[in-house]
Amino acid sequence: MPKELILATNNAGKVAEISGLLAGQGYRVSSQSEYGIASIPETGLTFVENALLKARHVCAHCDAAALGDDSGLVVPALRGEPGLYSARYAGPDAGDADNNAKLLDAMRDCSGEQRKAMFICVLTLLKHELDPEPVIAIGRWDGTIATQPSGDHGFGYDPLFIPDGFQQTAAELEPRQKREISHRGQALQALFDQLS
Ligand code: IMP
Repeated sequence: MPKELILATNNAGKVAEISGLLAGQGYRVSSQSEYGIASIPETGLTFVENALLKARHVCAHCDAAALGDDSGLVVPALRGEPGLYSARYAGPDAGDADNNAKLLDAMRDCSGEQRKAMFICVLTLLKHELDPEPVIAIGRWDGTIATQPSGDHGFGYDPLFIPDGFQQTAAELEPRQKREISHRGQALQALFDQLS
């Protein structure tokens, strides 16, 4: 019998990506939108806290295990910005182009090692609302921030992020290749390793 797992996200792209992989592990996956559960404010100060908040919120509404996730871009030279605020870096209604423009401006005086960055993805699996022992999986994808955007694939900061070992940006990689090596792919792999 497959175990039921609810993804604590309303993002259809994430649901498709994560549920396809977890189905192969014997999990029957659904998303919080199927249960009419609204998103909660992300009030944590770390990716781990936010991912736990999201999963716990879903567990509180349904009698099932829930998987929370949080991700973003971290630039050490900017003291971790955009970090937890990656999606709304340039303001509450900002789009990807606005966020990328703000990042380029913030890094206009950065060169060499100062242009280093990393994508982080944290996945947290709670068996129930009061589970004191969540499974926590972290993926980290290192790279460098380019001086101008290029590429049409992906989303978010992909047009500015040149992964270590590559000459092109994440937005110039084939989507399948990005899925395999990205922070999200690494976090999912780490989650499977702990579940199996
Ligand atoms: P969240 O995990 O949906 O909260 O994503 C936070 C934000 O981080 C996104 O809106 C993007 O701006 C950024 N981000 C997370 N993962 C990626 C990625 O794979 N590529 C580009 N940007 C990303």
